[in-house]
Amino acid sequence: MPPRLEGLPPARIMDIVDLVEEYASGHTDLVTRAYIYTAKVHRGQSRLSGEPYVSHPLEVARILAIMRQDPETVAAGILHDTVEDTAATIEEINHLFGDHVAELVDGVTKLARLDNSNARARQAENYRKMLVAMSHDIRVILIKLADRLHNAMTLEYLPSGRRERIARETAQIYAPLANRLGIGWLKGALEEIAFRHLHPVEYAEIDDKLKEGFADRKAFLEETESLVCDSLSQAGLKAEISARFKLHSSIHRKMREQKIDFHQVFDISGLRIIVEELKDCYAVLGHLHTLWKPIPGRFKDYIALPKANLYQSLHTTVMGARGQRLEFQIRTREMHQMAEQGIAAHWRYKEEDEDDDSFDKFEWLRRIVESLQEETDPKDLVDSVRLNLFPDEVFVFTPNSEVRRFPRGATPVDFAYSIHSEIGHHCVGARVNGRIVPLNTLLENGDVVEILTNPHRTPGRDWLKFIVTPRAKQQVRAWVRQEQRLRSTDLGRELLELELNRFKADAATHLTDDRLEGAAGELNQQNKEDLLVSVGFGRLSAREVIHCLLPKEVVQGYEKREKSAIRRLVQRVGGKSLKAILVKGQDDVLIRFAKCCDPIPGDPIIGFITRGKGVTVHSQMCASVQDFSGDHERLVDVAWGQEKKDEMHTVTLAVEAVDRPGILAGLSSVIASCESNISRIEAESHHDRAGIRLDVQVHDLDHLNDVLKKARDVKGVLSVLRVAPQTR
Ligand code: MN
Repeated sequence: MPPRLEGLPPARIMDIVDLVEEYASGHTDLVTRAYIYTAKVHRGQSRLSGEPYVSHPLEVARILAIMRQDPETVAAGILHDTVEDTAATIEEINHLFGDHVAELVDGVTKLARLDNSNARARQAENYRKMLVAMSHDIRVILIKLADRLHNAMTLEYLPSGRRERIARETAQIYAPLANRLGIGWLKGALEEIAFRHLHPVEYAEIDDKLKEGFADRKAFLEETESLVCDSLSQAGLKAEISARFKLHSSIHRKMREQKIDFHQVFDISGLRIIVEELKDCYAVLGHLHTLWKPIPGRFKDYIALPKANLYQSLHTTVMGARGQRLEFQIRTREMHQMAEQGIAAHWRYKEEDEDDDSFDKFEWLRRIVESLQEETDPKDLVDSVRLNLFPDEVFVFTPNSEVRRFPRGATPVDFAYSIHSEIGHHCVGARVNGRIVPLNTLLENGDVVEILTNPHRTPGRDWLKFIVTPRAKQQVRAWVRQEQRLRSTDLGRELLELELNRFKADAATHLTDDRLEGAAGELNQQNKEDLLVSVGFGRLSAREVIHCLLPKEVVQGYEKREKSAIRRLVQRVGGKSLKAILVKGQDDVLIRFAKCCDPIPGDPIIGFITRGKGVTVHSQMCASVQDFSGDHERLVDVAWGQEKKDEMHTVTLAVEAVDRPGILAGLSSVIASCESNISRIEAESHHDRAGIRLDVQVHDLDHLNDVLKKARDVKGVLSVLRVAPQTR
């Protein structure tokens, strides 16, 4: 039994009310009502110990009251299992006990889900952080710790499997958490109980040895204590001295860590000296060192250099009377309170007239937080009593209850890539807490995430817009690059086939692997794949490659004829049924639409190879195409492939109309009736004429023709023409 709770009778509601009344008067009603409600909803339930269930929430509430927590926290402690284990709802709690109590109960209920997962040892740190991150209010953690302490204290009633699991979790998760929060007594209590259950043999051994030497040690401590007491008062130093005994679990840890046996642990017991002021700590230390010889290397100044959980104290070991070593801990009352209660001391209930230096409170919290994690921005924390210690991180579960940590903003795709690149590449959806969600859903603390895959699906380029982890980004980019390479290999091969066609040469004969490797060598390409990629990307022209593939005479003969023949581009495209490259999606980097004419599906088109950019698709009517016509080798035939149905293209229309009211309204309503949208309007009027430019969104040429036809029918409209895009 932890020292603080030692010898206490079972908790009754009146004890709790009395405890709370001592430090916060006038809240009896809230605490009592919480009890009556809890007793009612848990009625008929009992603990494995055979006691009525309500005994557990009462014990939890008493621990919180002993820690002097505010009445709402104590009430929430009484109510903490009602939503999890009975028909009670959070709405009802809210209605009966108010927002604050309900939020605390809700927080504890959410954490209860964590208890049902198997935290593995190596994940203890993540798990702990998750626990903290999920509790937006520090008081939720305090309730959780009190709950765990009482459950641990009654472990002997559980079957051995569960008992061991809870003991292990207590040692790995809850004791370190209490330690981080600086609540020394609670950390000690949790560790001690866990140790007793996990290592009963070692516990009994240490216990026997402690009992063996107890009388001697006690006598020695009392003797030394009175000596120190007299000596300090003669020196005019005011101090309180008490004996302290090391816990079984700490003795065991020390023996294990330092590979020593029981008799070599010199601080099994010691004396603690509590003074009023900081300077007295050092004065007392100096005084002790004049009484006894300090043992070199055993002095520690945790006042100048506090521990990570802000523990402060001076420790020294001296060679005491009878040659016995003795450790002293020296600290101020304030430091002592911090060592025992840690963060709980700061959330302790304070009467209004008590000084509450809230600046200090947050300063202290800020330091705790910094010690927990350095990058955390303190601004986020100093938000009343709420805190979110890890605002930049989210902790989620795999279906096997492993905890995984992600940067905030992470999505199921990030999660999928964290498991395996193949899972990432083929993920098609996710189930979060059992519900199917879109891939760009933001993950929240405590989510259970399951990824749905389909071997035939591949990453979407749009994933790059929402994924946040470097691993996922890198994997998607690599995939996109690989895909582009494949696409440009195909495109390069197609371009070469088209070009060979022009020379009446046969692809099967000339585009063999050997010939391509040969051409690659001549053109300084690594290999045939690189050669094809270069052609696909437009870094090399198909004609340059043809020069290497075909005999000189053939190429020269053709080029002569080509120069002499006046070949109008449009004729060539229209007249011959050459195989054309299919233009598929708009987002294809190797095939882009020219800004100057911006063709839409259905428009007659022609492709132009631009160095480093692949194929640019122009409308055949585009003025700039005429400029390229001398540059035959760079022109390629293209044709519209299967378009994505939902793709919209912008087209600019020039409308001439009679300037009269309602003309714009008429136009926009017919355009809307065609299921097109207007994305920009510019209008000007001269005399009685209005000139209007509209950017409209259409699927393809048919759709555009429909829009044009209806727009021309609007009353007052004189003409509607499609014009080249200008400055959009
Ligand atoms: Mn409980």
